[in-house]
Amino acid sequence: MTVFACSCKQPLSADLREVPLPPPVIEEAPGVDTFLPPWMPRGTYAMNHHTGEFVLHPDDVTSMAAHPEPRRSRGCCGLDGLSGPNLVCDSCGAEVATQYSDCWSQQYVGLVPESVVMTTAPPT
Ligand SMILES: [Zn+2]
Ligand SMILES: [Zn+2]
Repeated sequence: MTVFACSCKQPLSADLREVPLPPPVIEEAPGVDTFLPPWMPRGTYAMNHHTGEFVLHPDDVTSMAAHPEPRRSRGCCGLDGLSGPNLVCDSCGAEVATQYSDCWSQQYVGLVPESVVMTTAPPT
């Protein structure tokens, strides 16, 4: 299992299992009329070979803070992720991820591959 960490060694994710990238979510969840359901199941990550990002469930990331530049956090109902990484490591401030959480977008966090390291979680 894998934990993603910042280059400053701050862990940034839960302990995750790699899975193939699921097909994009296009159907709204029953009873939810604004947002699509999350792209990834909890506890998993996938490599998006189109963007080079690691794709995570929004609730599987940790120790991240909003980017200090407000223009990075644009979106209509959430974050559109179109202006570059919008999450930084809350320990060192490095740009580590982009959250996509707008009403029309997939719901996920994409880790910037150059900014994170993969570590193997110790057995519990
Ligand atoms: Zn919207
Ligand atoms: Zn850091």
